[in-house]
Amino acid sequence: MKPRVAFFDFASCEGCQLEALNLDAGELLDLIAAVDIVNFREAMSESSDTYDIAFIEGSVTRESDIARLEKIRQRAKILIALGACATIGGVNCLKNHMPMEEALKIVYGEDAKNYDTIPTKPIDEVVHVDYYVRGCPPPTSEMLKVVKAILLGKKPEIPNYPVCVECKWSGNVCAFERAMTCLGPVSRAGCGAICVTKGRNCWGCRGLVDEPNVDSEKEILQKHGITLEQALQKFQIYCTGGEKK
Ligand code: SF4
Repeated sequence: MKPRVAFFDFASCEGCQLEALNLDAGELLDLIAAVDIVNFREAMSESSDTYDIAFIEGSVTRESDIARLEKIRQRAKILIALGACATIGGVNCLKNHMPMEEALKIVYGEDAKNYDTIPTKPIDEVVHVDYYVRGCPPPTSEMLKVVKAILLGKKPEIPNYPVCVECKWSGNVCAFERAMTCLGPVSRAGCGAICVTKGRNCWGCRGLVDEPNVDSEKEILQKHGITLEQALQKFQIYCTGGEKK
């Protein structure tokens, strides 16, 4: 029997699910041949409470999200955090830098009293996560890599080195040399350095590498007149290092 796969969304723009639908036709057909997709709100109207693998997109931002996520965890044998919102909190973390009442008021004005909100959390602050598919949105190649590894009973090989490495492989001119502040020296690779390759800088949507070479990175930043603290502050857009109130 094929494993049953379900997709669920919490606070998110649903861009990760959309990206899953962007798998090329051959990859999508291979995937459908290997698994049964039983929940996928963006692509089908049927749904089921019986599944083996749950993909979670989005972060936890309401008290009621906690019980919902715990229920999904109880039902799934394998739970995968999909995208920056689920893996590190994502852009929803911007509200964590102000009191929650203020955030509610900015969004809902006079109707704020009708809504509840809590500081944004990545899903592993609530439940155990078996696998992470990182990025905003995550590369389809990494989604496939993780699913294939699960089906083969292997551990997926996800890079744990900085984006700088992939930048060098791509032959990019360093963003610092183009007068930009870049989080590539401390951010986790796996995106193919796509933002820098397209002429932008890295904002750290894949989170920090596990063991950043802090001394070496400090040296690079100092050379360009930036402190490590200033660089890490940039991660606040995606939550890493963000202070919760
Ligand atoms: Fe949207 Fe990015 Fe969050 Fe995915 S990680 S839901 S693309 S904001």
